[in-house]
Amino acid sequence: MRKLLFESLIKPVLTEAPPLAADSAMEELAGTLGREARRRLGRSLSIREVDAGSCNGCELEIHALNNAFYDVERFGIRFVASPRHADVLLVTGPVTKNMAVALKRTYDAMPAPKWVVAVGDCALDGGCFAGSYAVAGGVSAVVPVDLHIPGCPPRPIEILSGLLALMSETNA
Ligand code: SF4
Repeated sequence: MRKLLFESLIKPVLTEAPPLAADSAMEELAGTLGREARRRLGRSLSIREVDAGSCNGCELEIHALNNAFYDVERFGIRFVASPRHADVLLVTGPVTKNMAVALKRTYDAMPAPKWVVAVGDCALDGGCFAGSYAVAGGVSAVVPVDLHIPGCPPRPIEILSGLLALMSETNA
């Protein structure tokens, strides 16, 4: 017990450092995306994410958008469980043969207008998994793709930039 108390006196503080300047750029970008989505759709932007066979590297970056640092839901960008509530289908990984039907069904279940965003190099053409017996191809081999965000994996700020470009481009 004495050892524990002594260690607690000499150990450095364990709290994390405040956000970097780059995080304020992230906040500005997410805020702009939220406003652009409200202007375009008249409400928050809803995203359904499908892992079609990724290594989960892209998922880690997408999940980061919802962590305590980024917390993009405060800007009106939310991830939803049902494709029936989604505006954007975010797809990662090469599309494996086992996931091809599920991906197509998810796309078909989304109401129009809807957009498909392929995230990561694998989503473009299979990436490092291309040619595998288990892979059907890139996302566009199964559903129509509106935007591809390159990277292995792309960073959260790059994912937000891509979504902003998509919302800004789709002026109706
Ligand atoms: S693009 Fe890179 S991180 Fe994303 S699924 Fe492919 S290998 Fe994994």
